Amino acid sequence: ASVVGIDLGNLGSKVGVARQRGIDIVANEVSNRVTPSLISFGPKARAIGEAAKTMETGNFKNTIGSLKRLIGRSFSDPEVTEIEKKYINAQLVDANGQVGVSVLYRGQKQTFSATQLLAMYLAKLGQIAAKELQQDVTDCVIAVPGWYTEVQRRATLDAAFIAGLNPLRLINDTTAVALGYGITKSDLPPPETPRHVVFVDIGHSNYSVAVVAFAQGQLTVKSTAYDRHFGGRDFDYALVQHFAEEFKDKYKIDVLSSPKAMFRLSVACERLKKMLSANLEAPLNVESIMNDVDASSKLNREQFEEFIAPLLERVHVPLEEALREAQIAPTDVFAVELVGGSTRIPAIKQRIQAFFGGKTLSTTLNADEAIARGATFACAGLSPRFKLRSFAVNDIALYPIKISWTKAPEDEDEEPEAIVFPRGNSIPSTKTLKFVRSAPFELEASYADPSALPGKINPWIGKVTVKSVGEVVPATIKVRTRLNLHGIFSFEGAFFETTQIVEEDVPAEAPPAEGQAPAPPQKRQKKVVKRTDLPVVSGGLALDSSILNNQRESEGQMIADDKLVQDTEDRKNALEEYIYDTRSKLDDRYAPFVQAKEKEALLAKLADAEDWLYTEEGEDAPKSAYVSRLDALKALGDPIYKRYMEGEKRARTAAALRETI
Ligand code: ATP
Ligand code: MG
Repeated sequence: ASVVGIDLGNLGSKVGVARQRGIDIVANEVSNRVTPSLISFGPKARAIGEAAKTMETGNFKNTIGSLKRLIGRSFSDPEVTEIEKKYINAQLVDANGQVGVSVLYRGQKQTFSATQLLAMYLAKLGQIAAKELQQDVTDCVIAVPGWYTEVQRRATLDAAFIAGLNPLRLINDTTAVALGYGITKSDLPPPETPRHVVFVDIGHSNYSVAVVAFAQGQLTVKSTAYDRHFGGRDFDYALVQHFAEEFKDKYKIDVLSSPKAMFRLSVACERLKKMLSANLEAPLNVESIMNDVDASSKLNREQFEEFIAPLLERVHVPLEEALREAQIAPTDVFAVELVGGSTRIPAIKQRIQAFFGGKTLSTTLNADEAIARGATFACAGLSPRFKLRSFAVNDIALYPIKISWTKAPEDEDEEPEAIVFPRGNSIPSTKTLKFVRSAPFELEASYADPSALPGKINPWIGKVTVKSVGEVVPATIKVRTRLNLHGIFSFEGAFFETTQIVEEDVPAEAPPAEGQAPAPPQKRQKKVVKRTDLPVVSGGLALDSSILNNQRESEGQMIADDKLVQDTEDRKNALEEYIYDTRSKLDDRYAPFVQAKEKEALLAKLADAEDWLYTEEGEDAPKSAYVSRLDALKALGDPIYKRYMEGEKRARTAAALRETI
């Protein structure tokens, strides 16, 4: 079983692995500890992560990011059509009720749903972890925003399934950070006087706050608050707008009219923004932004803060909300811990600090890796392979969930609905509801406050039909509901209870004294509650398992296709390298070991192969063609190589002999 934690970021993701000696954040194939959350569809293969980032500029219409923003959303959700679209260059489409993209992949227009896209990316992260651990990766914990609803959480799990992963838990981002903070502290107070820490995460797209109470061996999330549209990309966007305006006059170009120019400008703006965190002024340069114009400009920090003033005005809102809900005054806060890339912006830090009355902010956690570390701790805690010091994580639900039903004659209550899991209910949790019924009945679960949900997410969660209520009516039926570790709701089943009186033996008080016959057993009556399960049919937001299995299969096929393309490319490079390498060695170290005729023949073959490589056929041939050509060259080259090696060996032995004499 693997122990892996994933921080799925909107810009980049981090992967942690647990080893006996501790947790490591994994470096990817180009040694970065952050992997771009991007997929780029090419004419031959997909590029995912770093490779997608490299391809993005030239292929931005077939490159898609914002994976965590799109998952679980419908194509018509205004947060997709009005907000996410601003940051996406690929064409968004409807993919069977979900948002998806239409891209040119292997020469064909193809549609992939947000779930499939996230699956592709998660599979890549799994591979990165697998390479590091030298083992297959299945078990993992994935950190998600605390504001994810049922449909988003389910879609994330679906994506993980398609990717061949097995999430032991979806953990809320800030809860993961809190776990990483708490589990390493040895000086936590007793439960009566907990230590309150506020965690602030401002990343690329999102701003989260959590108030968490820590005590020995446990953490309890008191409240969370969010600004779901607040992060680095908003600052970048403000800068893009500014420079686009400036360049209209300065260069007579309309950057906003060209997606490619916009893309180039936003890359430069992000760089400028980061520089302004450490410098009071910074330059901006974009080579051939459009119409062969090399654009350049500069900006100082004060101007930057002016452009993002409307956003800065919002910094205090989630802080205020979280503290109010936790019923804690800013002065009762033990520490304010900052994570996420955008908390490096001085103006943001100032606002947060001012909110807490000038309190020194802590950055004791690694701002970029705290979520991945926490998620990895969570996975280790759930894994039988690790003996962690036990640390309880008491998390809470953000959105109240209600159950509703059609009123039956037996009902006394006026309202045919009830909140079963209120806001702040602990996770996981089960609740049992009681109904008096004479006939089959149906229950529905939904979010009680649709206006609190992101975008136009449908509040409906699921339903259950109790198909029969037993022989004796009216019957008192109990229905069990559950909010699981992932924060996902389910109807667990329905049953009725009957009480029976049974007789049982009373165990003897003391063993009979020696030589005495045992006393005759005493009987007593006992109430036994017998539970009879009732047949139920439940339905929810789960994707049909046949669809999921198909998508998993097709993901496996795409991975195999990508691998074949990569292997073919490797073989082609190997052939090319052999040609140049052998040619130069023939004139050099192989020279004493090769006859003129032999050399001539091999050189001719090498030239042939080289010529072929540059024909249309050789440019794009199947893997076997490169392999067989290399084998043919080696058939001639290997004997020479062998003679050379033997010669080398003889020379070494001779040299060694000379030394010993
Ligand atoms: P999210 O949490 O929203 O899903 P993420 O996890 O990918 O996104 P982070 O990695 O926390 O985001 O932060 C990335 C953002 O932080 C980017 O917008 C980046 O430009 C910004 N950022 C990183 N370093 C700095 C810096 N020194 N100054 C300003 N902004 C920075
Ligand atoms: Mg993040």
